[in-house]
Amino acid sequence: MQAQEIKEYRNMLLAKREHLIESLGKINIEKIRENPISADIDDQSQEIENDQVMDALDLLDVKELEKVDQALRRMEKGLYGICLDCGAQISSSRLKALPFAQQCIDCAH
Ligand SMILES: [Zn+2]
Repeated sequence: MQAQEIKEYRNMLLAKREHLIESLGKINIEKIRENPISADIDDQSQEIENDQVMDALDLLDVKELEKVDQALRRMEKGLYGICLDCGAQISSSRLKALPFAQQCIDCAH
């Protein structure tokens, strides 16, 4: 992937991140900082849910925010756009629609 292309995805991810953080609001973000999302997102979500701080919509945002963060971290390691399951390059059309995609189209289905 070319540097220019990565930069574009990075901007998309950062914009998405900003939007999600805004919609989650300050209180919830502080909640996330107190309880960093673990690798096992479903367990963590359950905990957050039990806290009854976040409603279902917030929970979706939290999951999406975590995916965005993971994508940015993979970008730093030079692994952005590589399918987590099979190691194939995720197509650019898929990344443009879903810049935080973790799987190629074949593995996602
Ligand atoms: Zn794959």
